[in-house]
Amino acid sequence: MNTPRATIDLTLADAPIAPAAQAGAPVEVDVTGNIVTGLKKDDAAAVPVGGKRNLFDMDRASLERFFEETLGEKKFRAHQVMKWIHHRYVTDFADMTDLGKALRAKLEAHAEVRVPQVVFDKASTDGTHKWLLGMDPKNAIETVYIPDKGRGTLCVSSQVGCALNCQFCSTATQGFNRNLTTAEIIGQVWVAARHLGNVPHQQRKLTNVVMMGMGEPLANFDNVVRAMSIMRDDLGYGLANKRVTLSTAGMVPMIDRLAVESDVSLAVSLHAPFDELRTELVPLNKKYPLDQLMDACVRYARGKKSSVTFEYTLMKGVNDQPQHARALARLMRQFDNAVQMKDAAKVNLIPFNPYPGTRFERPDEAAIRAFQKLLNEAGLIAPVRRTRGDDIDAACGQLKGQVMDRTRRQAEFRKQLQAQGVGDAA
Ligand code: SAH
Repeated sequence: MNTPRATIDLTLADAPIAPAAQAGAPVEVDVTGNIVTGLKKDDAAAVPVGGKRNLFDMDRASLERFFEETLGEKKFRAHQVMKWIHHRYVTDFADMTDLGKALRAKLEAHAEVRVPQVVFDKASTDGTHKWLLGMDPKNAIETVYIPDKGRGTLCVSSQVGCALNCQFCSTATQGFNRNLTTAEIIGQVWVAARHLGNVPHQQRKLTNVVMMGMGEPLANFDNVVRAMSIMRDDLGYGLANKRVTLSTAGMVPMIDRLAVESDVSLAVSLHAPFDELRTELVPLNKKYPLDQLMDACVRYARGKKSSVTFEYTLMKGVNDQPQHARALARLMRQFDNAVQMKDAAKVNLIPFNPYPGTRFERPDEAAIRAFQKLLNEAGLIAPVRRTRGDDIDAACGQLKGQVMDRTRRQAEFRKQLQAQGVGDAA
């Protein structure tokens, strides 16, 4: 199938700051990615885009409401439309042949299904596939599909860039522009599923989604939760709850909120068993140190009666020593005990993936195996995640997209003003 190609202006230097909201909702965020102005929880579905509502923004509940309240139609019509969009990849209302003419005309007048623009896509020799998707005239994000024995995992982005500044992550070097809308998150799934010829419930090419692309998903809570609900809905992509995984650098209050408002697998980017080291690698640790983070994970695991995955990126000479392995094993055992469940903690070892300009290195194979062995001897499940798609820069931590960085620009602007003696005026 041909995917529409977009023209997107990726010449970023000295370009004016893009009206980020142009492609979706007028969202303003602070540096941790929290929405400070703009949409409230349930408004996303109700924001007209160019006068029309983008149906990609709506999960089943919002679409039913839209059909009943705005279109004056029965709920089951919303269900038909969801199937057209997410099962058959039809976005033109004229082609939705089981809807009456009058309804199709009404939809045409009030709604649209706005497909993300594929700037380019690349296939790796190992079957991994990466898309660069244009989100607005200045920003693009990356989505990666990773096929493996009996499963196909899509790695989905949640923000344009990331504000958390983890020291070893390529996305961080790009700075942060804005949150993605629900439509822009589910649009990534749509593009990949369509490319793969995925038919939910029948021809499953896409079996898992991990929110492990660009961005911190819990900093874009409402949009991510709504998009994950479409992923798990039978009328959407029909994925089992446990096959949708949200990965966080450790936004503690949001982990508790996630437990209440969604039902997905949780992964936590740990990377260090000591606070001092973790704060260096993941600055968010200063705000939410290890004991608070682990307590939140215990509450999540207990509430959901499920395991939590702890990601540990192995960096040479930084966090790959026997003392780190032993302390990590202790932390994980404490976790199992607190949850009162065997193997409640699963460790995922990710050998560091290098990118231009980084000061970190991947440990050699022997060091990785030695680290893993210490964990196994302590009774922990700790697979080493094989690097996939590194020939197309699609491996963990290598996603960059094209980010028009507003936060950094603002910070630089402030610095310049301060240098000119204007103080904190900016
Ligand atoms: N912000 C979320 C989602 C990103 S997930 C989070 O931090 O969990 C991406 C995963 O890859 C995280 O575990 C991240 O820490 C890890 N990662 C980042 N950069 C990496 C790199 N260069 N090599 C290997 N893993 C990396």
